[in-house]
Amino acid sequence: MTAGPTPALDVSLLAGFRYACRPDCGLCCFAEPRVTPRERTQLLSIAPTLGFVERGREECIAARPEGGACGLLRNLRCGGHPARPSPCREFPISVHLGERLQATVVLSCPGVDVRGLDGPEPAVGDPAPMGFDEELSRVRARIGPDVPARLKASTARRRRIARHLESDGRWVPESEVRSEWDGRAVEVPDSAFPVESPPEAADGLDLLPLTFAGTAGPWAIAGALGGWEVLELRETGGIARSLGVVPAPERPPLMSADGARLLDRYLHYWLARDVLFGVVHLSMLDDPRGTVSEWVAAELARIGATVLARADVLAAVRGGRPGRLSADDIAVGLRATDQDLLDRATWGSRL
Ligand code: SF4
Ligand code: SF4
Repeated sequence: MTAGPTPALDVSLLAGFRYACRPDCGLCCFAEPRVTPRERTQLLSIAPTLGFVERGREECIAARPEGGACGLLRNLRCGGHPARPSPCREFPISVHLGERLQATVVLSCPGVDVRGLDGPEPAVGDPAPMGFDEELSRVRARIGPDVPARLKASTARRRRIARHLESDGRWVPESEVRSEWDGRAVEVPDSAFPVESPPEAADGLDLLPLTFAGTAGPWAIAGALGGWEVLELRETGGIARSLGVVPAPERPPLMSADGARLLDRYLHYWLARDVLFGVVHLSMLDDPRGTVSEWVAAELARIGATVLARADVLAAVRGGRPGRLSADDIAVGLRATDQDLLDRATWGSRL
């Protein structure tokens, strides 16, 4: 059997973004990165006591317990940088393997400038390079001979779901749904509130949504009695301090005009991501109501409400709730949300 041509990587969703990894961050290292056998050998030559864990069929670097970072992180720097595995070299690019290979930017990464959501034109007077060259070349190097078969299998899964929803009169193709939103703002209605609480700290610190806050460890948002608690985590595991518990909003917080515009751009970015449709189609199989268009509208409202609620809570612990959430507040909220929601199951998979 021949492997077929190497599938193209769609990088259109990278256009307009600029990226440079921040040396004071380490956020993406609060994870268990997957390793190949070769990467494992290289890492062990640098760090002979490094621990590994099996996750399904994959081997990963073990994170320290209680929400700690990968065993190689020391003072927010990678102790195995020259031998770090592929996921670390590729971040903040995430590739959804569905009917095509679509690269998207993980906006939780504080090294990415969210002004890229404004579109492909770089900001005036700002000629900085995009900064994704190394990450993209690593992604491309990993598009192996197995990928055409995986694309074929996920395309067949999507087709089966489409046929099923079509027979119920609920199917609307992606292109049609996207065109329904051309030039149209995404509303976040009152009915999208209150949003689902994050897990509680007692359920496991590794389950909590994280965000970079410029402190010695990332901030995690946890459900708590009387609201949501914001916690600073230690890279060695455990909670360094609590920033406080504040009530989560019951209704959409007010936004400045710039804040509302940034949130709308972010929701349109979601609409362009294939992963959104993969998540929605799967969810529709468990519920006999509604068309794809209606589900996408509800999902965008849910994402928008989650961003708003997290932005509001994080603004409150940083120094008091503002009268209106600014674009900076919304950026904080979407950074605290993006990775979390990108990690959901679809009829496709991650490269
Ligand atoms: S989250 Fe982004 S800025 Fe932070 S360490 Fe990872 S790649 Fe660098
Ligand atoms: S290997 Fe290095 S870059 Fe990758 S998660 Fe661990 S500390 Fe971070």
